[in-house]
Amino acid sequence: MSHLTHLECTSCGQKYDPKQPHNLCACGSPLFARYDPKKISSAISRETLLKRDNTIWRYRELLPVDSGENIVTLGEGGTPLILASKIASRLGIKYILFKDESFSPTGSFKARGMSVAVSKAKELGVTKICLPSAGNAGSAAAAYGVKAGIEVNVFMPQEVEEIYQQECQAYGARLTLFGNSILEAGQEMNRRIKKDWFDFSTLKEPYRVEGKKTMGYELAGQLNWILPDAIFYPTGGGTGLIGMWKAFEEMEQLGWIDSFRPKMYVVQAEGCAPLVKAFLEGKQMSEPWQNPQTLATGIRVPKALADFIILKIVRESGGKAVAVSETEIQNAFRLAAKTEGILLCPEGAAALAGLIKLLRYEKNDIPFRRPVIFNTGSVLKYRNYLRQTLP
Ligand SMILES: *Cc1c(COP(=O)(O)O)cnc(C)c1O
Repeated sequence: MSHLTHLECTSCGQKYDPKQPHNLCACGSPLFARYDPKKISSAISRETLLKRDNTIWRYRELLPVDSGENIVTLGEGGTPLILASKIASRLGIKYILFKDESFSPTGSFKARGMSVAVSKAKELGVTKICLPSAGNAGSAAAAYGVKAGIEVNVFMPQEVEEIYQQECQAYGARLTLFGNSILEAGQEMNRRIKKDWFDFSTLKEPYRVEGKKTMGYELAGQLNWILPDAIFYPTGGGTGLIGMWKAFEEMEQLGWIDSFRPKMYVVQAEGCAPLVKAFLEGKQMSEPWQNPQTLATGIRVPKALADFIILKIVRESGGKAVAVSETEIQNAFRLAAKTEGILLCPEGAAALAGLIKLLRYEKNDIPFRRPVIFNTGSVLKYRNYLRQTLP
C-alpha cells in the first residue's frame, strides 16, 4: 500500500530504517520519508487519486503507513478552496483563493499531520507520545491518540486558551501547563520526558510533515495540476510549508506537475517574527525570539527547529518573509468576514494581512496574480481574540 522506502536526513543524507521509530538524525536535523516513485507511478495516476474518498488517505501510496488497519482517521483533508473575488478586486489582483482548513477535525490543519503520525506510531508499536503545543497540535494529538489507543502527554504554555485544555480533558490526554511559550513548554517536557514516551514535537518526528504535505497534493488537484503563483502561509514551526514544498518535488518527480513553483510567503506576527528577522538579515537560521507576543497563538513559535529548511524554501521560491501587526491581523479578519462571509482564524488573518501589506508596498510590480491564502484553523476556538476583534 505505502511505497515508503526509507528515512533520509535533510542535512547529511544519512538513511534510516522506517521499520523503527526515529526522531532526528544523529547530526541533529529532521528526517524526511522517501518513496519509490517508479512503484507509485505504476500503482496510481493523478486521475485515479481524484476518484477516491476525499480525505488525505486518497494519497495512501505517498504516505508512510503500510497496513490499512493502522490508519487512524477522523475524515481529515478534502478542505475547500474558496474564491474571494471581492477582496481580490479591492486589492486589484485577478483572484484570491482561501484554502480553508477550518473544516478540519479538531478545528485545524494539525489534524492532517496527526492522522498520519499517529497512524504510523500505532503501526510501529508506539504506546505513549509527548509533545509541546501552542494549542491545536495538542488537541489533534489527543483526539487521534485516543482513537489509536496511545497515551498522549501534552505540554502547553500557561496562558493557552481554555478550550484547548478542555479538549485535552475531553479526550483524556495528560496535560501539563508550563511557561510562557511553546518553547518553554517544550523545555519542561524535555525535563520530564520518560523513557517510553515517543517525542512527537514538530519535525522531531518524521511523519507529521507527511500528513501536512497532502495540502500540496490537494491544491494541485483542485487547481487542475497547475500550482498557484503564490502561497501565503502563517508560519510557526513551518511543517505545512515544508510539507507542501516536498509534495511539489514529489509530484514533479512523478510527472504530475512541471517545474513551476509558487512563490512561498512566510507570514509571522510582528510580536514573534524570528523567521522574518533572519530572512531580512540574510541569515540561514533564526535566533529564539524573546518575549513572543501575538493573539495568533499558532504562530507564536519563538524558534522553528527547521528554520534553515523554511528559509531555504522561501528564498529558492522567490518569495519573502513578512511580519504583520496585531491591528493588521484584526483588520484582515474584519475584511474577510464583512465581504466574503469567511471567518479567518488569527493565523489565517495574518496570512491575508501579509498579502495586503505586500501589495501595498509593491503596487507597481506585483510578483503574482493568483495567490492562495491558508486559513489554518477555526476562529471559534479563539474567544479572547474574537472578543477583542469584533467590530
Ligand atoms: C500550528 C498552526 C500554525 C503554524 O503551522 P506550522 O506548519 O507549524 O508553521 C498556523 N495556524 C494554526 C491555526 C496552527 O494551529
